[in-house]
Amino acid sequence: MKFICQDCGKILNEDELIISVDKVSDYAGGTHERSATCTCGGSCKEASRCIGCGEFFPDEELSGGYCMDCLKESATVSNAIGCGNEAKSEIKINGFLAYLFSEKEIEEILKVALDKKINESDANAMKAMDEAQDFCMDDACWFAGWLDSQKQVA
Ligand SMILES: [Zn+2]
Ligand SMILES: [Zn+2]
Repeated sequence: MKFICQDCGKILNEDELIISVDKVSDYAGGTHERSATCTCGGSCKEASRCIGCGEFFPDEELSGGYCMDCLKESATVSNAIGCGNEAKSEIKINGFLAYLFSEKEIEEILKVALDKKINESDANAMKAMDEAQDFCMDDACWFAGWLDSQKQVA
């Protein structure tokens, strides 16, 4: 188990923590609070390594084992399409077009349209990247799980 100092950012082992027991109230013979602090006096939180970059972060800042920076960096258009493939969404479209094309064909047509749009202008490319990030980060934990599953395949 590792700990990270909230003040200086130092990574500490459990045996490096300074444990102090403070009396926080006199109620019912005294209530004590056990606190773990860094050598600098800052309070410490349990920390784990990010699967992506290997840096330590407080556990509560990790989503599915990844830090936010790594997730944001991975939230690309191609990854959004990749994980979107596992989050199928239903839409209503023209019945004849639905009759003509299979789901796979419709997806291929839309991917080509998306590529065309992205290549048209920097503004379009930026918008697609922003939306890819929103889509992936909407459920960061789920995206982290997908990312991890891709890593194992590769
Ligand atoms: Zn510290
Ligand atoms: Zn990271």
